[in-house]
Amino acid sequence: MTSAIADLSLTELTELHSNLRAEYDELASRGLKLDLTRGKPSPAQLDLSNALLTLPGAGQYRDEAGTDLRNYGGAQGLRELRAIFSDALRVPVPQLLALSNASLNIMHDVVVHALLHGLPGVGRPWCAEETVSFLCPVPGYDRHFSICEHLGIRMIPVDMTDAGPDIAQIEQLLADDPSIRGIWCVPMHSNPTGAIYSEEVARALVSLPAAPDFRIFWDNAYGVHHIWDEHTPPDIVSLCEKAGNPDRIFYYFSTSKINFPGGGIGLVASSADNIKRMKAHLAMQTIGLDKVIQLRTVKFFDGKAENIRAHMRKVAELLRPRFELVLNSLEREFKGLDILCWTAPLGGYFISVETMPGCAKAIVAMAKDAGVVLTGAGATWPHGQDPADTNIRLAPTVPTLEELEQTMQLFTLCVKLASIDKLLTQQ
Ligand code: PLP
Repeated sequence: MTSAIADLSLTELTELHSNLRAEYDELASRGLKLDLTRGKPSPAQLDLSNALLTLPGAGQYRDEAGTDLRNYGGAQGLRELRAIFSDALRVPVPQLLALSNASLNIMHDVVVHALLHGLPGVGRPWCAEETVSFLCPVPGYDRHFSICEHLGIRMIPVDMTDAGPDIAQIEQLLADDPSIRGIWCVPMHSNPTGAIYSEEVARALVSLPAAPDFRIFWDNAYGVHHIWDEHTPPDIVSLCEKAGNPDRIFYYFSTSKINFPGGGIGLVASSADNIKRMKAHLAMQTIGLDKVIQLRTVKFFDGKAENIRAHMRKVAELLRPRFELVLNSLEREFKGLDILCWTAPLGGYFISVETMPGCAKAIVAMAKDAGVVLTGAGATWPHGQDPADTNIRLAPTVPTLEELEQTMQLFTLCVKLASIDKLLTQQ
C-alpha cells in the first residue's frame, strides 16, 4: 500500500481487506500471548536496580546525623535522600518531602485533604462546594482520572499539544467556570503522548487568573526518563513563586520508573505553606516512614543526583531499541496512508496513536482476539470515554524486541483492517 487508503475504489478496498484478513488469520493462529497494557520496566531494566536487594547492607541503619532509622520518627523523609532529589528536581530541600513507596497515593491524599480540610489561604474545604472540577489534558493518564472519578470530581477534557495543554482553552475555561480547582499535568515525556511542556505553557499555568485554591498537580513521573537527549522541565516551583502564586503547585515525583515500581520513594514538593499543611495531615496518618528503604535508595545513588542521570542512561539503552522498533514500524506501514498518526516521544514509557474516528475500540478488540493485549481504548480519557474513539496508548517497555516485532506486525494489520472496515461501511 503506497497511496491514501481513502483514495482506493470499492473493489480495491475489498480485495485489500481480504488479503490483510488472510495475514491476520495466519498471525492469530500462532497463539500469541503478548501484553502491551501498562508502562512497566522489563525484567532487564529491573535487573539494573538489583543492588537495592542487598542495600542498605548489614549493620547499615543510621543516617548522616547518626539517627537510628529502624525506629519511629522522620515524617518528612531522610534529609540526604531529599538532597539528592532536590538537586535533580530543582526544588529546595525544605520544600520537598520524601514519603512512602510511590507517588499516586500522595496525589490521592492531597485531593482528599483538600476536599475534607481545604487548602492554605482558603477557609472552605472543596467538599463545601456544589461542584469541584479538574482540567484533564487528553489523552492523559488513566489513574489521574480514576482519582477524580472515585472522589466525585468533575473532569473537563482539554486538548493536548506537543508543548502541553492548550492554554487558550484553559484560559477560557478558568474564566467561565469557578468550580475548577485543579489540573493534571505530566510535564515531561507525558503519558501517553510524550509531550514536553514548554516554558511558555508553564508560565501561563502559574499565572492565569483562577480560584485561590486552584492547584496544578504537576506529576513529573518521567522527569529523568530521557531516551535520546536530556531535557529539563520548566522550574515550576520558582515560576509559581515569581508569579505571586506560590501555593498553586504540588509537584510529584517517584522512583517507580527508575528502580522498582511501587517499591521505592514517592516525593512531593510545594510552597512552604502547602508543605506545612501536608506535614500536619501526615502526622495524623503515620508515626514514621520506612527510613531503612529510604537509606537503601540513598546508598544506591551513592548520595549523588548525577548518579540518577547515569542510571537513567542505562535505562535509555534498553528502551531506545524498543521505541525505535515501534516508530520504524509505524513509519514503514502508515506513512502517506492517512489512516493513523502517532507521536514520537523523546522519552518516557509510551507512544500514543490516533486512528480514524470510530476505530480504536475495534483495533484493540481485534488485537486481543489474536493474543495481543493493548491498553483499553478510551483509557486515556476521563471515565474511559474517548468521544471520537481514536486514541490508543502503546507501551513498548516490557516485551523483548522479538515480541515487539510480532506485536507491531499484528497491530499494524489490525489498524489497516479496522480502517478499511470503516471506509467500507461509509461507501
Ligand atoms: N504518574 C504517571 C504519569 C504515571 O504514568 C504513573 C505510572 O504509570 C504513575 C504516576 C505512578 O507512579 P507511582 O508508582 O509513583 O505511584
